[in-house]
Amino acid sequence: MRAHPAEYELVAPRTLPAVLALLAEAPGDWLPIAGGTDVMVQYSAGNLRARKLVSIWNLPELRRIEVFPDEIQIGAGCTYTDLREHAIVNQEFALLSCAARWTGGIANQNRGTLGGNIVNASPAADSLPALLVYEAELLLVSLGGEHRVPYRNFHIGYRRTQLAPDELIRAICLKRRFSEYYAQTRKVGARNAQAISKVCLAALGRLAGGVVEDIRLAMGSVAPVPLRLKETERIAKGKQINAALIQLARTTAAAEVRPIDDIRSTARYRAAVAGNLVAEFLEQLSAGGSMSDVLARWNSLRADAAEGEILPCCGSKAWARGMAARRPILDEATLLATSDHVWKSLPESDWMEAFHSHPRIGESRSPDSSPARSAAWSGEEQLEVGNASEDVKVALAQENRAYEQRFKRIFIVCATGKSTPEILEILRRCLRNDETTELHEAAEQQRQIAHLRLKKWLSL
Ligand SMILES: Cc1cc2nc3c(=O)[nH]c(=O)nc-3n(C[C@H](O)[C@H](O)[C@H](O)COP(=O)(O)OP(=O)(O)OC[C@H]3O[C@@H](n4cnc5c(N)ncnc54)[C@H](O)[C@@H]3O)c2cc1C
Repeated sequence: MRAHPAEYELVAPRTLPAVLALLAEAPGDWLPIAGGTDVMVQYSAGNLRARKLVSIWNLPELRRIEVFPDEIQIGAGCTYTDLREHAIVNQEFALLSCAARWTGGIANQNRGTLGGNIVNASPAADSLPALLVYEAELLLVSLGGEHRVPYRNFHIGYRRTQLAPDELIRAICLKRRFSEYYAQTRKVGARNAQAISKVCLAALGRLAGGVVEDIRLAMGSVAPVPLRLKETERIAKGKQINAALIQLARTTAAAEVRPIDDIRSTARYRAAVAGNLVAEFLEQLSAGGSMSDVLARWNSLRADAAEGEILPCCGSKAWARGMAARRPILDEATLLATSDHVWKSLPESDWMEAFHSHPRIGESRSPDSSPARSAAWSGEEQLEVGNASEDVKVALAQENRAYEQRFKRIFIVCATGKSTPEILEILRRCLRNDETTELHEAAEQQRQIAHLRLKKWLSL
């Protein structure tokens, strides 16, 4: 049962030495509280054993990100929002900023800190696999001074760490040598944000002369502590990626993880997913695996510029905002999946905005409000229509009018690769749909158009 609030003591010394002195005075008596997003959950559940809390939220030494030529030092009190908004973290440590993006919701990202995620020591914590593959080091500080420990040794068992009671994590150090690596991260869960992972992956790889020169794989939710898949890395290193290696890596990863059954998933499912994620990563690494230049640049743009650049791929401003808010996006598969997710979550009014950014099928002129790139893509998509016979064009114009009278909007079809008679046939079929069915068919066509345009955008 939760203790009465009066039984708790909360102090907030203004300086780091004052906090460290308090911790040293009575080691174990005082519990540091940073953002409080884990501590307060324990409090509400009646599981918070500590009665004395010392706030470290406002300590400047813990709240800054320092950039040096060969490494960055992220203050342990930096929030997920701080990570998401930092240019170097975004550009060079995208696995970490991705994890920050899908840790809880915005409110949680404004309060939750990287140091808190490490010390809370959940095997499902989203940022920890990224720290493993980047081979992070932790700066631990106490009154006695500061020392560095490799993060890989920090978690010594289920929810146990090597932190001494009088110590704090001051900073997390990351070497700046991964910007040339292909990076991929996956969170498999009920959904990305606001759900605890069933399995999460952070992976880095680099090919040289067609063979795997370096590979780093780490997973969460598959063992009592976040796990680096050393055996799977070993069998892949120095090899050419082919079907046999992918299969071997899949089975090795599935055997190397040590998952359990719990309320979120089963051990069998988690092992199968672990194998599949590793196989998918190797496939993409062999297919050229490096982050597209377009995505790398777009990830580091200011939000308004990023929205403006991606808008022509869909036409809905809310969609463009949603996409920009979900950066960094590391690869094409994630880009397309994110597009689907954002698109499906929009209300009808935003769908309409996207529909109306297209020219009528059979007409080349885009609405004046459409960006030039959208108009150019529309022209390419409707290339076939321009070559149709006059009869077919007249029929198309007639059916377009009928459609607009019936549904009060223009007809949407993903025209790429379709002949004009095919489009006419689809249009006639759509005219027989009821309102709701047709709205969803149009939305599906728009989803497909966005996919094709996103792929074109990536190859610009
Ligand atoms: C709604 C919600 C959704 C969430 N979703 C996710 C999610 O999707 N993925 C995920 O990984 N986590 C998630 N979390 C968990 C949580 O937000 C993170 O673990 C967060 O990073 C904890 O940071 P904090 O600053 O809030 O930690 P606090 O609650 O302040 O502290 C947690 C622990 O860390 C210790 N601590 C904090 N900072 C330091 C330091 N610098 N040195 C030494 N000890 C320290 C504290 O003493 C305490 O033991 C979620 C939480 C909530 C409430």
